[in-house]
Amino acid sequence: MRAIGVFGGAFAPFHNGHLRLAIEACERLDLDQIRLIPTAQAPHRPDSRVSALRRIEWIRLAIEHERSLVADDCEIRRDGPSYTVDTLLELREAFPQHALVLLIGSDAFAHLHTWDRWPQLLELAHLAVVSRPGAALAPADETRKLLSRRRVRSADELHASPAGRWLQFEVPMLDISSTRIRRLLRTGRSVRGLVPDAILNAMTAADTAALTQDDDATTH
Ligand code: ATP
Ligand code: MG
Repeated sequence: MRAIGVFGGAFAPFHNGHLRLAIEACERLDLDQIRLIPTAQAPHRPDSRVSALRRIEWIRLAIEHERSLVADDCEIRRDGPSYTVDTLLELREAFPQHALVLLIGSDAFAHLHTWDRWPQLLELAHLAVVSRPGAALAPADETRKLLSRRRVRSADELHASPAGRWLQFEVPMLDISSTRIRRLLRTGRSVRGLVPDAILNAMTAADTAALTQDDDATTH
């Protein structure tokens, strides 16, 4: 079965860790495309001071030359909190012939049980989980039971069904987080090499001011 990758996040800002994850997932999991979806109203964290429109503009700049990566504004077009399960429901309708593969880092995976209607995520999509520095890759107690019999070891096994399997895949780890980028900006330091040049070159003083006002929501 052909499959599409779904990769959501605050992306405040989008960075090279996100970019490599998307590219490697696309190639290694044999996905037709990856849809990059910035949250508009994140349920678990304060919204970024950078507007969702600006954050998706950054993604567009970063992926201009990547034909398999697509910026998707579906959470920006929707009202209310940006629940991933609603995004998957929308994508299921838009791509009835494709399986969906939800890409997440191990930090997000550890909190999967806190996501709205989380068991439904597995009815709508597969999960591909990538290790992230500082976050061991393991399901939480709450999700272990549902996930234990659904684990597969290869992309081929994912492609054998439309949804409901999960797999761990390794990408050479990049210890980059948006939190660290915001911290560096706050102290006036360079973030070149962490953020795609196309984004950096388009970043205005107002962007930097907004990013540095964001609450640091994570421990990275
Ligand atoms: P913040 O520090 O603001 O939380 P972040 O770097 O964690 O930013 P998010 O927008 O929160 O980025 O993350 C979106 C998704 O990307 C999550 O699934 C997260 O686990 C994953 N991710 C982010 N950075 C990396 C990285 N360096 N390696 C692997 N996965 C990553
Ligand atoms: Mg994060």
